[in-house]
Amino acid sequence: MTTATLNGSCPECETGLTVPPVVPGETLSCPECMLTLRVEDVTDGRLSLRMVAVQLRDWGQ
Ligand SMILES: [Zn+2]
Repeated sequence: MTTATLNGSCPECETGLTVPPVVPGETLSCPECMLTLRVEDVTDGRLSLRMVAVQLRDWGQ
């Protein structure tokens, strides 16, 4: 039986996150602080997340 979801917490605001299965290297967005988080590792259904600097797009303003 595989784990249907993975759990982790935002390193910035410590909001608990439950996400569908991801693999290291994928990125998620924290719903609370909107930071982009990269999955560093997945261990036993637990995510290790690291905030990444987001390159803001130039929207042509
Ligand atoms: Zn957060």
